[in-house]
Amino acid sequence: MALRLETEIQYIKGVGPKLGALFSRHGIRNVLDLLQNYPRAYEDRRAARNIASLQEGDVVSLRARVMSVSSYNMGRSTRKIYDVLIRDNTGQIRCKYFRTPYKGYFERFQNGQEIRVVGKVTNYRGRLEFHHPDLKDVEPDEDLKDALIPIYVENEGLSSAKISKMIQTCLNEVKEWPQEKLPLSLVQKNRLMALDEALYRLHCPEPENGHLYNEFKSEAHRRVIFEEFFWLELYLASKRSGLKSEKGLAFSAAEPSVKKLADSLPFKLTNAQLNSYREIKKDLESGKPMNRLVQGDVGSGKTLVSFMAALKSFDSNYQTCLMAPTEILAEQHYKNAQKQLQELGVVTGLLTGKTKTKERQEILDKLQNGEIHFLIGTHALIEDWVQFQNLGLVIIDEQHRFGVAQRGLLKNKGQSPHFLIMTATPIPRTLAMTVYGDLDVSIINEMPEGRTPIQTRVINESKRLPALDFMVSHIERGRQAYIVYPLVEESEKIDLKNATEEYEKLKVQFPKVRFGLLHGKMKPAEKDAVMTDFREHKLDVLVSTTVIEVGVDVPNATIMMIEHADRFGLSQLHQLRGRVGRGLHKSFCVMIMGYAVSQETRERIEFMERTSDGFKVAEFDLEIRGPGEFMGSRQSGLTGFKMANLVRDFEILKVARDAAFDILHRDPLLKSKENQALREELMKAYGPTALAGIA
Ligand code: ADP
Ligand code: MG
Repeated sequence: MALRLETEIQYIKGVGPKLGALFSRHGIRNVLDLLQNYPRAYEDRRAARNIASLQEGDVVSLRARVMSVSSYNMGRSTRKIYDVLIRDNTGQIRCKYFRTPYKGYFERFQNGQEIRVVGKVTNYRGRLEFHHPDLKDVEPDEDLKDALIPIYVENEGLSSAKISKMIQTCLNEVKEWPQEKLPLSLVQKNRLMALDEALYRLHCPEPENGHLYNEFKSEAHRRVIFEEFFWLELYLASKRSGLKSEKGLAFSAAEPSVKKLADSLPFKLTNAQLNSYREIKKDLESGKPMNRLVQGDVGSGKTLVSFMAALKSFDSNYQTCLMAPTEILAEQHYKNAQKQLQELGVVTGLLTGKTKTKERQEILDKLQNGEIHFLIGTHALIEDWVQFQNLGLVIIDEQHRFGVAQRGLLKNKGQSPHFLIMTATPIPRTLAMTVYGDLDVSIINEMPEGRTPIQTRVINESKRLPALDFMVSHIERGRQAYIVYPLVEESEKIDLKNATEEYEKLKVQFPKVRFGLLHGKMKPAEKDAVMTDFREHKLDVLVSTTVIEVGVDVPNATIMMIEHADRFGLSQLHQLRGRVGRGLHKSFCVMIMGYAVSQETRERIEFMERTSDGFKVAEFDLEIRGPGEFMGSRQSGLTGFKMANLVRDFEILKVARDAAFDILHRDPLLKSKENQALREELMKAYGPTALAGIA
């Protein structure tokens, strides 16, 4: 049977239904899927090596014998390390696995068995080791020395060699190749390799370019990576131009209340705040819907900027709503709004999940007759019954917690209301371009005057007591503190116990200190009571899970102690740290690490001692943890890359992005003949709404 791109796997010679089913469980259904299952590395057999000659950083392939296979627990956790000791006649070396590739991976190996090891040599505490190398049976055709052999991700029952063999069959027998969809001029201008050639090369690389292939830097790689980025950017570009072509509300240029607020503040707005507001003002008066993201580090004063926008909406006789990710935060905004906006005549309402039915009815009435100007709440705002008289502006705080869908639902509550989105997760430049490619961005890169930098210390568990004493000494001087415990989903119960147990212990240990406990499982009213007590300084220390991560603002709190800091991502640590350093007193952040953390983790966390710049933290986090951290539920397309990597391939991303925006700029409706394939592909990939602005 002739193979076509959509031919199912099971019809490939030597496959059959059983293997076919195995493949489709891993998302590979047809010939095209298989061809797009790119090698994750290449084994260079020309560089035959022995163990004694290994050096840190070498990527090598060598033959050796198994001496032992063992496993043991990692520190005190239940995670297992697998350890395979191998030798040749020059020496021995360990192969370590911190996550098991799959069940049974190690059962294949017997002591004394000859194997081939492919991997990178790592220096671990002065000793050379392999971490997660590939261990393979020695093949009979090993003397094929001059080859660059593709290595595929292995799964149970699907060895790299088996996958490779199937792909080679396809390459030989397939009767068609994926069609070029990019316009010829684009391909030429960027000197891109033809798509079919790139696909072929990735599976059958030229050995002389071995190093390029292993670094994802061959021309074949560049071609495929470019295309993956290009589709996403084209989508974002079209969405953006769609948004820009919509009609929106034009707010009036007169803004007496905004002026009054600015004049009444006990401090000066920072230049960054002023600039952001200026950009917002321009958008709001333009007659086109605003879609603006304000990015600013924790404590940079985003709330105030958003209140100014709300006042501008008020001055133009429109209503505003503000959605926050947690009840605590919604209430804090509500209290601030009452404090700062009430005397300007703004009537504010609060709506959360705990608002009683009777109250809700009242709010609904006041919303519909325009009595409430500014509604603040949690995602309860999205519910159907929340109907405005004339919603003009939607503010979303800490956007990364919400999805795009929710933005859409809020949008329908008005006639093209303006959108202002605020985030304190500084998104690395790389990601902002892609994740928020459809939004305009304002950056608040300046802290209000008079803040003293937070001093950060990373310590071991053994120093915990002195750290607590340090905390108490500050409490005796009238300051307040947080102690935060991680809440990791899979072990939620244990962690909860951690915070609660610790709270009980601390009360006994320091009877003079007033402790409060806050965690996600408490009733909203209880949470609220604790938070209020803390804010009013009826409590000295808040023992908490990460519910306080975002937004909470208590300027008298100057100590943040984070337990098990090794379990947090850096951006999260940065957020937590941002809860202190909000007032005039010097603040401290103490990050406590367990005994059993790896060198790598230790270095990662110690990075926090050196920088207080959220953007730097985010860049670093992105490098080591990948983009998932920043995505929320925003762009599933972004994590769907088969080959592209936002950090490694940033340079290609920039080019692809410019190309996409340029094409749409010159041919906004993608009408030209050359762009037909783009138009069709965009529709196919993202549905007809992707082109709503264009069509
Ligand atoms: P974030 O950007 O993290 O949301 P907030 O809006 O909560 O920060 O502001 C943090 C604190 O800084 C608040 O107490 C706020 O009143 C104060 N603040 C905002 N702008 C200024 C300013 N220009 N000068 C001094 N303090 C400010
Ligand atoms: Mg905030």
